[in-house]
Amino acid sequence: MTTARQPGLYDPGETPPQLRASRCGACETVAFPAMTIGCEVCGAPAERLAASPIAAAGVLYSVATVHLHHGKDIEAPFTMAEIELDDGPLIRATLRDVVDVASIGQRVHAEWFTTGVDDDGNDVVEPRFVVSESMETAGTAS
Ligand SMILES: [Zn+2]
Repeated sequence: MTTARQPGLYDPGETPPQLRASRCGACETVAFPAMTIGCEVCGAPAERLAASPIAAAGVLYSVATVHLHHGKDIEAPFTMAEIELDDGPLIRATLRDVVDVASIGQRVHAEWFTTGVDDDGNDVVEPRFVVSESMETAGTAS
């Protein structure tokens, strides 16, 4: 079995990964993470918000590569990115591969990535984003 690294943000049973966003019935604002107590944009009450899974796909807005990291959750170097999702929200996420600023503006989509194993032996997964348009160069790292 698999379990989500951050339960509530995505469901590891869905492939490709989707993000659990909310959509406001009054102003149509899509928010991720989902809004719960009311719309932050128009003030509509919580009952106007609907759960709305959205595609984990969009365009790279900015990137920053971490070369020195003291946590044990991820091994450096790795690239963090701001991604403008197709449904609107701008999110921060980890990229599967290290990329540089030349990749800004390219399309990205998420794939499941196993970050470890929990105490019950389940694979712990999270979505990591991959540049969609450079499949032919993905294998050139040596
Ligand atoms: Zn609203």
